[in-house]
Amino acid sequence: MVPVNNNLTGYSNFWVVKASKLCNLRCSYCYEWDELGDPKKLSLELWRNFFSGIRHLSEEAKVERKSVSHKLILHGGEPLILPLNYLQSIMDIATDYGGDDLDLQNCLQTNLYSITEEKIQYLKENRFRIGVSFDGVPGTRLSVAGKTTEDQVVKNMEIILRNGINYGCICVVGRHNENRLVDIFNFFYNLRISFRFLPVFDVSQHVNQSQISVNYEATANRLFEVFVIWISKKETLSVRPFLEWLEISLRFLSKQKIRESASRVEGPTVTLVNTDGKLYRVPDAYTAGLEFGDLEYGLPMSFGSKQHRKSVQREENEVNATCNACTFRDYCDSSFIVSSRPERTKHCGVDYLVISKIVRWLGENADHFAMAFEIMSPDAEPIGPELQVLA
Ligand code: SF4
Repeated sequence: MVPVNNNLTGYSNFWVVKASKLCNLRCSYCYEWDELGDPKKLSLELWRNFFSGIRHLSEEAKVERKSVSHKLILHGGEPLILPLNYLQSIMDIATDYGGDDLDLQNCLQTNLYSITEEKIQYLKENRFRIGVSFDGVPGTRLSVAGKTTEDQVVKNMEIILRNGINYGCICVVGRHNENRLVDIFNFFYNLRISFRFLPVFDVSQHVNQSQISVNYEATANRLFEVFVIWISKKETLSVRPFLEWLEISLRFLSKQKIRESASRVEGPTVTLVNTDGKLYRVPDAYTAGLEFGDLEYGLPMSFGSKQHRKSVQREENEVNATCNACTFRDYCDSSFIVSSRPERTKHCGVDYLVISKIVRWLGENADHFAMAFEIMSPDAEPIGPELQVLA
């Protein structure tokens, strides 16, 4: 049997909540570009509806004897520039609706360009897990004033690390850094920071796609090169999606299919909550008329709606169109389609291409297989915290 990473078969609801789009950076590829100067925040009234809905869903799951957990991902814009009293109110409301009983993990995605002592205390007290957006190469993630930000972010990484805050990084891969992936891997490896490579898949209309967008084949080759370096290390850092790619490859080679229910969209769900309270499945994000609900009317009503069924069906159709003819379909939970552009490439693009390379590589040599099994062994403890947050 191939050792199975339980994260793939677990059942979690991911709530990516856009508390505000306001941001202190202007990253060229940001899909929120047009709203980065807008101070509007998700109202506290809608936050109440959100936590009351989470509580309702958790209670419903208990009655049905299902194990369901929730991950709140505070997203932006830049959540750490929001006023402390607003951030604190969100946690107070969560406590009002059950706090720890909700099986809720607090996460926050940040550019970490600015951090204060008060915000550090807030993150610690509320046991936030942090995802830091960091591309390793300057020039794309610029401040509002047009200055590079990487040196300051590295300083702030050291500060939060000294304060015992658990964090991982997300490195968006694009034209700006695709030739430096080995250096970037070494940077994270030397500091023992777990991270995720995320090939850029959507950019704002304000930027010329060709300045940022990746060439799928070239990027897959470069990521595969780093994958081989990663797997050759004795002490394995948790790097995503290397772990997922490897697991799918091993399942495919040993013909170990995953449960049908875990391979379709009714498995782990990701819901995007916009600043106005509208709810989307990720592929529909922000498209007028494709929201499936609204916090104003509460989560239970939104999830029971006809629009929700339609959103699920749309996603199901997209999964079928992207994955049905894929060699790895029975061994993969299709989660890569969230960040794929199948209209521009074969299947889900970079992920599909690298998995194909890994399968070939594993078949070349028994030592490669042995390295893979060592990493996927249930006893193997990857260094660095596990973190899965969308960029
Ligand atoms: S197309 Fe991608 S997401 Fe779909 S089954 Fe294949 S590898 Fe998985």
